[in-house]
Amino acid sequence: EGRVTFENVVFSYDPDRPILQGLSFDVPAGRTVAIVGPSGAGKSTISRLLFRFYDVNGGRVLIDGQDVREVTQKSLRAAIGMVPQDTVLFNDTIRYNIRYGRWDATDAEVEEAARLAQIDTFIRRMPKGYETEVGERGLKLSGGEKQRVAIARTILKGPPVLVLDEATSALDSYTEMEIQAALERISENRTTLVIAHRLSTVVNADEIIVLDKGVIVERGNHEELLAQG
Ligand code: ADP
Ligand code: ADP
Repeated sequence: EGRVTFENVVFSYDPDRPILQGLSFDVPAGRTVAIVGPSGAGKSTISRLLFRFYDVNGGRVLIDGQDVREVTQKSLRAAIGMVPQDTVLFNDTIRYNIRYGRWDATDAEVEEAARLAQIDTFIRRMPKGYETEVGERGLKLSGGEKQRVAIARTILKGPPVLVLDEATSALDSYTEMEIQAALERISENRTTLVIAHRLSTVVNADEIIVLDKGVIVERGNHEELLAQG
């Protein structure tokens, strides 16, 4: 469950400026495909088309063989989880922030998600700038910690498809490694589309697609691409 297919996708924001020019790839259920390429290549556009923020001009985007234009917005959002680069937290506990949108989740499920994202030691705390009614001071969360809150939220939501936008450039390399490890754990049994800037961060992808100006210039696994230089 969760297969993602792009079939000859043609797309442009402006009619006179083509962005994707007949893009085809397939992410079999449970597999990971990474899209890498220079800024402006069209990588983020792919996730926008998957979420149907825009519709294709030609070709099809399919989830489990079904055209996303025939899927309701609600089930699309349930099927696809996104860990964004920037996470804005709600004015409440970390626990609340993780549970957000999954109000039926048990405490044990929330704690398990927090453990996997390695933020279980502070789920009772509040983001900095906020205070609890009893006057407990807020905890300053780093960018990486905030991102791990988003990861925990996605773990709890448990969508079959995961879109990871890996532009973690604002994070130091230690944090980046930790985030990377957490993301790898949650993508293990899920269909995962990774949007990345550097080949070095997508070593474990089943397939890496190098995109430039909306067309695939190279594809293969990490070793194959390194061999090609
Ligand atoms: P990447 O993620 O690879 O950096 P994007 O998919 O964000 O690239 O963008 C691809 C191209 O589409 C870029 O040239 C960008 O300027 C252009 N673009 C992105 N969003 C819009 C938009 N809303 N309207 C017009 N052009 C856009
Ligand atoms: P939540 O806070 O539970 O993620 P949202 O209403 O913010 O709820 O979003 C619901 C889902 O819609 C997200 O989990 C994600 O799958 C998708 N989504 C929302 N915003 C974006 C975005 N900017 N880019 C890609 N997907 C998004």
